[in-house]
Amino acid sequence: MVVVGAGIVGAGTAAELARGGRRVVVLDRGHPTSRIATTLSGGMVRAYDPDPKIRAWAAESLHTYLDPSRWPSGESEVRAVGSVTMPSTGDEPDPAAAAADLVAAGFRDTHVRDSNALGVALAGAGAVVEPSAGYVEPADVAAQWLTRVRENGGEVHHGLTVTELLTGPGAATVRTDQVSVEAGNVVVATGAWQPPPSSPKAGGCWSRDGGRGRSR
Ligand SMILES: Cc1cc2nc3c(=O)[nH]c(=O)nc-3n(C[C@H](O)[C@H](O)[C@H](O)COP(=O)(O)OP(=O)(O)OC[C@H]3O[C@@H](n4cnc5c(N)ncnc54)[C@H](O)[C@@H]3O)c2cc1C
Repeated sequence: MVVVGAGIVGAGTAAELARGGRRVVVLDRGHPTSRIATTLSGGMVRAYDPDPKIRAWAAESLHTYLDPSRWPSGESEVRAVGSVTMPSTGDEPDPAAAAADLVAAGFRDTHVRDSNALGVALAGAGAVVEPSAGYVEPADVAAQWLTRVRENGGEVHHGLTVTELLTGPGAATVRTDQVSVEAGNVVVATGAWQPPPSSPKAGGCWSRDGGRGRSR
């Protein structure tokens, strides 16, 4: 598997794939300290979201962040300072229902506070308080995921820009500005505002280096 992009999404995805036994190669055009979305992020981690589907994913994610066994350092990366989410409009879904979902997901300290308790005017029916939430240092978290990739036999290469993806039956070639890598599957995690490398046409898998970076 080739994962293009070593921000939080690419690094986390690659770590999970490597943990599951896949041979993983991560390619990133920048360097670990590059100013990308991950390094610019405030690192806020909480489980609340008005959308129930995203809320369920966020809850699973927050459990991961809080679990010391998931981190090479053996310590959770979360500074659990808590989080209060105040709806900005009156048409957000019922915060009590959202809080109940989070309690059921294992965050038993989640609750709702009204305007009086918080001492501020709220547009909606209440604010969701998550004492278990907090923040992480995003660049450190991404680096930890990349450590997990290496620990599980994967490779991480910085300073390679992926320029093209060539797909063929059951395989793909990932072309960079320096080498090409063959892969069974490719995950593109180049960031939401970044156009993915072009994939001009299906078929005709192209390969050059023959030695370095073969990955299945
Ligand atoms: C100011 C700010 C504050 C934020 N605050 C929060 C917050 O508090 N909580 C929160 O959860 N989220 C927050 N976010 C959002 C969060 O940071 C992003 O959703 C997340 O970091 C995106 O990660 P990513 O891996 O998708 O992208 P990125 O971090 O942008 O990583 C993409 C990677 O792909 C690489 N790449 C791109 N093109 C290529 C190519 N052609 N070849 C090789 N490599 C390539 C880049 O070098 C980069 O390393 C914030 C974002 C910003 C900008």
